[in-house]
Amino acid sequence: MESELTREIIALNQVDRRIVRGKLRLRELTSAVAAQERAVEEARSKSREAEIAIKDQVMAADRLNMEIRVAEAEVGDQERKLKTIKNQREFRIVTDRIRDLKIQVDENESQVLGGMEELDRLRERMTECRDRIGEEELKLTSVKQAAQEEIAKIKARHVELLAERKKAVERVEGLDPTAYQAYDLALKRTKGDPLAEMSADGICQACFRRLNSNVVNIVLIGKDIKNCRCQGCGRILYAGNAEKNGEVEST
Ligand SMILES: [Zn+2]
Repeated sequence: MESELTREIIALNQVDRRIVRGKLRLRELTSAVAAQERAVEEARSKSREAEIAIKDQVMAADRLNMEIRVAEAEVGDQERKLKTIKNQREFRIVTDRIRDLKIQVDENESQVLGGMEELDRLRERMTECRDRIGEEELKLTSVKQAAQEEIAKIKARHVELLAERKKAVERVEGLDPTAYQAYDLALKRTKGDPLAEMSADGICQACFRRLNSNVVNIVLIGKDIKNCRCQGCGRILYAGNAEKNGEVEST
């Protein structure tokens, strides 16, 4: 039932589908590399965060240690002063001051200890972050390498496909010069999916519009391609039995 022209149009479409698949794969590969680059960047920024947290922690500890030294020095001064005091009221003021300073020193010392624990935790985290950077960078190298190899193959294949396409177009145009124009128009209007199967009961399998008997007849004959258009979606229709000729898969 199906015409030679229909067969050639389907063959052309198969080449176009391979070209589209190649382009999609190129996009996938490019975004896989970009995603891995982001993973490396993220690991680096987490490591930088850990570094900053460590610096802050060290500075806080230095500040506390300084306060402890100042307070301890004052305790020494106050204790010396205590020995010279005769007045009960003054004695009370100085001993209270010494007591407060010692409390302050104790508090600061326990804060320093807590800070050291936190610092250990942060340093551990930093080591993890640095290991993570190494892992992600290694992964990036292999993702990039695999992508480059596949991209080279796809590009070489693309050149072959363009040559195949040229021949397929020539065969279609050799049978009917207007058929390729109709195909190309449908290709552009459908953004790369120009053909649709028509079922035995006359329904477009892309948009499920029921076609009128006039179109059904033209499609069944398969010679007047420019009039094989589905009025619903604008695709060029071919009779369902044309499918046996090739693996026309729907996307
Ligand atoms: Zn349709």
